Amino acid sequence: HDHPSLSRILLVSTISGGGLIAYSEANASFYSNNGVETGTRKKKVVLLGTGWAGASFLKDLNNPSYEVQVISPRNYFAFTPLLPSVTCGTVEARSVVEPVRNIGRKKNLEVSFLEAECFRIDPGSKKVYCRSKQGLDSKGKKEFDVDYDYLVIATGAQSNTFNIPGVEENCHFLKEVEDAQRIRRTVIDSFEKANLPNLNEEERKRILHFVVVGGGPTGVEFASELHDFVTEDLVKLYPKAKNLVQITLLEAADHILTMFDKRITEFAEEKFSRDGIDVKLGSMVTKVNEKDISAKTKGGEVSTIPYGMIVWSTGIGTRPVIKDFMKQIGQGNRRALATNEWLRVEGCDNIYALGDCATINQRKVMEDIVDIFKKADKDNSGKLTQREFQEVIDDDICVRYPQVELYLKSKGMRGIADLLKQTQAENGSNKPIELSIEELTSALCQVDSQVKFLPATGQVAAQQGTYLAKCFDRMEECEKNPEGPIRIRGEGRHRFRPFRYRHLGQFAPLGGEQTAAQLPGDWVSIGHSSQWLWYSVYASKQVSWRTRVLVVSDWVRRFIFGRDSSRI
Ligand code: FAD
Repeated sequence: HDHPSLSRILLVSTISGGGLIAYSEANASFYSNNGVETGTRKKKVVLLGTGWAGASFLKDLNNPSYEVQVISPRNYFAFTPLLPSVTCGTVEARSVVEPVRNIGRKKNLEVSFLEAECFRIDPGSKKVYCRSKQGLDSKGKKEFDVDYDYLVIATGAQSNTFNIPGVEENCHFLKEVEDAQRIRRTVIDSFEKANLPNLNEEERKRILHFVVVGGGPTGVEFASELHDFVTEDLVKLYPKAKNLVQITLLEAADHILTMFDKRITEFAEEKFSRDGIDVKLGSMVTKVNEKDISAKTKGGEVSTIPYGMIVWSTGIGTRPVIKDFMKQIGQGNRRALATNEWLRVEGCDNIYALGDCATINQRKVMEDIVDIFKKADKDNSGKLTQREFQEVIDDDICVRYPQVELYLKSKGMRGIADLLKQTQAENGSNKPIELSIEELTSALCQVDSQVKFLPATGQVAAQQGTYLAKCFDRMEECEKNPEGPIRIRGEGRHRFRPFRYRHLGQFAPLGGEQTAAQLPGDWVSIGHSSQWLWYSVYASKQVSWRTRVLVVSDWVRRFIFGRDSSRI
């Protein structure tokens, strides 16, 4: 047995020497029966997932004292921001993927990969239970288990259907490379189908009606890509389709791209209207049938629209394995695994979660902040002066909890003291600011309800992967010399500094070689120049030179020859 549980001491008979070796995990060393140390067993890190979080963890982990076991149902990393481009053949599927073995191979680390899906995590026995698509023995057994010392969960999320009837059966999702390839084939199929004889005009129109549900960045980018594909390439090859094809975007909120600056939202809506993309705002999909989709407006009016193809892009939901794990550890009422700011799953030792499957526990953060203030109140008077307040905020809270800082900045506030001032002004009190735990709690509740969880983006996931890899690299060193902040509860310091997200900006490609860019400091740029910025950023962000060359050559090929419309 390779990895016994912490408390157990195993006696292992060696084939070569015939002697006994006692193994104690507490110091992870092997001893021969005469007590001489024979070697140190490496701690086994099991990594679930090879997406943004998993791949960046793997890429940045450098400490050779670990044995890394990667488990994922796909043996590659996919550069998801280019998936919308794959749906229309602007970029080929193979150009946006990198084999995970390539990512792990460059290391002096012991890394192995198993292509399988984890279906159960058992923190009690420190095992993960996995299922492979391939038969593992002559009886076709597909399941196996793997022990771990540390578990890193980076399984991402799945598309959310909100249990709306017919979505699962009739819609395309845009989450994986296979989804993008399927969409590409279906678009071309639709044009071929609409070109067949014996169809009436109405039927042709239905087949060429493409509906996108969800006005977030993915839905908007897909709608623009499809519009470009149709107008720049397909109508030249299928001239009869020109007046029949229609793209509709359904969005439940009052605007598309709500997470972007208002100027970007307005520009995108105007551009789509000029391009003839029908944006229906305030439309909540209620049902999807094989050939039509029903949506309800805010006024309660229900309309049914015939369609040929739907792409569903309304956000993300929890994977079953994570749901099951959350139930086991008492987090069953949450939507994502709650971690502390060091990305360790709450209530579990040695289990970390990052990326789309995890979230930093906001309620806990608020409790901690109240504790920080209480601790700063040295004479237990229940009050702090405004200056003391500000010091605690600047020196402690904003360092520990960047999401609070981001929120306050977005509100144009210097700190929680400003927020308290505002609360007091609203409540009609003009007292000088002093810490009253009651007032503080009510001010913090405001923050709590408004601070956004870290966005579910590749940017967050990749930064978390890098952060955790660095923590693992310095685990032993930091055990001896902790470098993190002073503990709020208990003595001493935390081993590491908490995770701190640095927002580098976001893009929304809008088609026609125009992109909207929102960079830090709320710097907004829209148009052709941002498109060139988009090209350079996405070329530079590729995980390898191989994919970088492939992606850039795909862009050049598309400029010269247009997109390929063969259905293969
Ligand atoms: P993922 O990247 O989804 O990876 C999850 C991994 O876990 C995969 O390897 C999967 O195979 C594996 N896995 C799944 N189930 C199991 C299991 N049971 N056991 C083991 N392994 C499992 N973000 C940006 O920042 N910028 C963008 O421009 C952007 N564009 C996007 C465009 C599209 C079309 C999409 C779909 C997403 C986009 N995102 C973007 C969001 C970004 O892709 C996600 O936030 C990011 O992928 C999350 O990373 P992750 O590692 O948590 O999950």
